[in-house]
Amino acid sequence: MALYLHFPFCRRKCRYCSFVSCAGREADIPVYINALKAEISRCPGGESVGSVYFGGGTPSVLTPGQIGDVLATVRSHYSLSSGAEISVEANPGTVDFPYLTEIRRTGINRLSIGLQSLNDDELKLLGRIHNSYQAEEAFQQARQAGFDNVNLDFIYGLPGQSLADWRRTLHGALELSPEHVSLYALTLEPGTPMWQDVESGRLPAIDPDLAADQYELAEDMLAVHGYQHYEISNWARPGYECRHNLVYWRNGPYRGVGVAAHSCLDGRRFANTDSLDEYLAAFSRGELPAKALDEEIGSELRSAESAILGLRLESGISADNIKGSYRQTVAEMTDLGLMESSGGNIRLTRRGRLLSNEVFCRFLPD
Ligand code: SF4
Repeated sequence: MALYLHFPFCRRKCRYCSFVSCAGREADIPVYINALKAEISRCPGGESVGSVYFGGGTPSVLTPGQIGDVLATVRSHYSLSSGAEISVEANPGTVDFPYLTEIRRTGINRLSIGLQSLNDDELKLLGRIHNSYQAEEAFQQARQAGFDNVNLDFIYGLPGQSLADWRRTLHGALELSPEHVSLYALTLEPGTPMWQDVESGRLPAIDPDLAADQYELAEDMLAVHGYQHYEISNWARPGYECRHNLVYWRNGPYRGVGVAAHSCLDGRRFANTDSLDEYLAAFSRGELPAKALDEEIGSELRSAESAILGLRLESGISADNIKGSYRQTVAEMTDLGLMESSGGNIRLTRRGRLLSNEVFCRFLPD
């Protein structure tokens, strides 16, 4: 099982952010940690856990002591595999060398750093709290602290971002030489300040064709530098694929703890309330948090989800698992050049990755 722990605290809300996170609530962190530990201790114990992921929000606003405290609860409640992958999302502007050294001592063995860009104008546009100097410094300090498994997150498809701008950020990323890179196309979520700026014309609209060119440029540059494009948005040096996220893509079991955390276990999908206040109130009443979602996953939906998630991976899905109406879908997608067969597996082509959402829709049950 993979274990996800959500920390919804951030120093400032980024201008594009629609994640479950909030600024100005740091005073609630100690009680939140108690609530999260209480939730862990009320889950079935003793299960084997192969990965732990501190996600957010910005988990690196926790002190090393708080991270160690949560990990101690995880260790005492679950059977944490030896060599388990234990990741923390960290944002530049919230970490320094002593901090990173201390969290590594608690047992954190993988960092995922949200650099997002190496261009100061773009970082300002996104509303990030850091600049490009701090971004590179955070990575160098992680190395000095001994982290040898580091992911860097970047965003492309920004309003006004040219192909040359993106190439410069990619060059900078490659110079840092992380083990893992995640690249996400900017999604403008309604209601966010950046969405309002685009809607009102203060910012140019996103150009999807340019974003596709940026994605293909990244594919080419990362391949030349030895990164394996193992998932639609993720590249890794061999052996450094994110084991935690691979559980999601393989439709494996995972438990989420904390505000808005999702779980998928024993044929059910469920999620906690996305309200921090409700989450803390339930804890103060000695109750488990309210569920925002609780549904059984039928066999048809499970097959569809396994196909969709598996197709996100470069390895694709076994042709043996293509049954019934999926055979027709795969044949059509193959004729369109969006899928291909390789070594007994079916996978997306390069063009299929660009149009993956359209492909995935075809796998959903009616
Ligand atoms: S750091 Fe991440 S979670 Fe926090 S506001 Fe920015 S985008 Fe949202």
